[in-house]
Amino acid sequence: MVSVLPTEEGNVAVVVRVRPQNHQEREGCRHAVVQVIDDTMLVFDPEEPRLSGVFAGFRGHDAPKRKGKDLKFVFDQVFGESATQEDVFQHTTKEILDGVLNGYNCSVFAYGATGAGKTYTMLGSERSPGIMFLTMVELYKRIEAMKEEKSCEVLISYQEVYNEQIHDLLEPKGPLAIREDPEKGVVVQGLSFHQPKSAQQLLEMLASGNRNRTQHPTDANATSSRSHAVFQASGSSDIC
Ligand code: ADP
Ligand code: MG
Repeated sequence: MVSVLPTEEGNVAVVVRVRPQNHQEREGCRHAVVQVIDDTMLVFDPEEPRLSGVFAGFRGHDAPKRKGKDLKFVFDQVFGESATQEDVFQHTTKEILDGVLNGYNCSVFAYGATGAGKTYTMLGSERSPGIMFLTMVELYKRIEAMKEEKSCEVLISYQEVYNEQIHDLLEPKGPLAIREDPEKGVVVQGLSFHQPKSAQQLLEMLASGNRNRTQHPTDANATSSRSHAVFQASGSSDIC
């Protein structure tokens, strides 16, 4: 799974997270197609996959080695299988909150094949909340910490694009249209905006929005969302 986000040094950072093999992959003794070398480099289709267990036994000693493409790639950060949600958050979206609080627009995209771990990383679960949750908790913490100098308001919307239609995940209704507004630019007509008063309230809205997402299981992912979800938080601040 690949995430793209802004950084201090440049405008864009690209990080990769490699998820652990799932039950099916382990059972089938599939070799890993990605090998993490260090915290910035990985090899795609490594030359000599690590052979283990039954799979190694089948091959025997004189079996020819599988020839991989052995392509090395360097990213701003590579997170291996053991990386936690907190590790990913600490090295990605936590850093961009400074930019957000200084009035910059910041976006985070998660990109990858079905089953790569996008939803897990962005949303996670109640037991292991993803970076959207962790970022919002941190945002409210920072707003609270500077409330003597600045008062901030957070406005959120949550929508999904599925089958070329836009749906409001916070106030589900029929599909919404995109219009061009002479002042605001491109807008989704009728999309609801909400003003959560605390991180907790915001997280409850996110959780209820997630329950409204279109889901269709696929062979690669039993809980595949099959849609693009766009969560937006905008804010305004006043100097006290
Ligand atoms: P995607 O949204 O990219 O289609 P998911 O995030 O739904 O994929 O992940 C597919 C499956 O793999 C899910 O069951 C998810 O819980 C699991 N998974 C993904 N990433 C990890 C991870 N880093 N650690 C543990 N399980 C993961
Ligand atoms: Mg998903």
